[in-house]
Amino acid sequence: MDLTEIAVEGYEKVIRCHDAHSGLNAIISIHNTAHGPALGGMRMWPYATLHDALLDANRLAQGMTYKSAVAETGFGGGKAVILGHAQRDKSERLLRAMGRFVDTLGGQYITGEDVGTTVEDMSIVRQETPYVVGLSRAQGGSGDPAPYTALGVFLGLRTCVEWALHTDDLRGIRVAVQGCGNVATHLCQRLCQAGALLTVTDVVPAKAQRLAQQYGACVVGPEEIYDVPCEVYAPCALGGTLNDHTISRLQCHIVAGSANNQCLRAEHGDAIRQRGIVYAPDFVINAGGLLNVAMEFAPGGYHEARVLEKVRHIADTVRALLDTAARDGISTYCAALRLAEHKLVTACQATTSSPAGAAAPAKASVGGYPVSQRRRSGRTQAPPVPAVLHADHH
Ligand code: NAD
Repeated sequence: MDLTEIAVEGYEKVIRCHDAHSGLNAIISIHNTAHGPALGGMRMWPYATLHDALLDANRLAQGMTYKSAVAETGFGGGKAVILGHAQRDKSERLLRAMGRFVDTLGGQYITGEDVGTTVEDMSIVRQETPYVVGLSRAQGGSGDPAPYTALGVFLGLRTCVEWALHTDDLRGIRVAVQGCGNVATHLCQRLCQAGALLTVTDVVPAKAQRLAQQYGACVVGPEEIYDVPCEVYAPCALGGTLNDHTISRLQCHIVAGSANNQCLRAEHGDAIRQRGIVYAPDFVINAGGLLNVAMEFAPGGYHEARVLEKVRHIADTVRALLDTAARDGISTYCAALRLAEHKLVTACQATTSSPAGAAAPAKASVGGYPVSQRRRSGRTQAPPVPAVLHADHH
């Protein structure tokens, strides 16, 4: 297994792995561990180039830092990407090699499922490393995070509707959903139950057809979704879909969806605001799944009722950001970034201002969980690893 560290400004550690035996070609990006070990999923995608994969890993890792900071999970931000086609190239050998790659970081990075990987894949990864979350409930994990992500998106979306359209009744509200994957399926179910009218699309037509049959949705082609007249556009596919080419086409009042990194660049948050569209920042609204897996580390273990309580709080955060952005004349995206940065700076100050010195553990209460954080005196020192992982390491 060849490991190569790639220096990336603003990131704590970015490593590429190439394993000739299994064919694994992957990157782990650790953006920030000020709040705790980097937690973020393992994506498998047929990137055209290594550069594309690197960019995606880094953008996603940074997004995880912000997501964790705002949701107060007690974790930092990181992400893993595997270059390859999930249907064609994924194998037990490859996943086990990826598990060994994750393990080399000794808990600085904790992985989980993401686009292109599943709960079942994580149990294979678990054979090589304890630093994995989101295993099935039968295996003692928190299970599929998607229903919790979808719940957070649904509640955040409804908050935007209340804020912009002055009603909490979703009956007759038209929602255009991009991507018909795991999260979108759960989201469409909730929206359908609430009486919303759905239009869906997916690059895999059968997936869109399935949701059309289940929830009475209309189906449009992947390129047409931006032009659909609707109250809400819900991006639930991949990142970067809010960009120079799409924002001017949107026919909606609100953008609220699960996809990570929806804005291609930060200025696209401003472009959405300039169009008078209310935007629920992705890393705020889609934190439900993260809250679910993070609960695996809570004292006393996983507790679904507490997860649901925290996921419901996403709606309060969205409302606060909408109010702040309106008051300060900034985009909600910018307001969310400011909130995340503020929480990160506060965490860094808390870990550097103690007179106890660089190696002393600091008690912090984040997200309701008391966590013990060890001050980091340099970039190479591993953050503390949750005790449950140490105990379980084989
Ligand atoms: P998924 O792989 O199950 O679904 C993604 C779907 O999008 C697939 O059906 C794919 O075919 C489709 N797609 C890809 N590109 C498309 C395009 N250009 N147009 C239309 N459809 C397209 O993934 P998921 O778990 O449902 O996650 C969806 C998004 O939400 C991802 O961006 C993911 O990072 C994000 N997210 C997921 C979770 C979670 O709990 N699963 C948590 C937070 C964020």
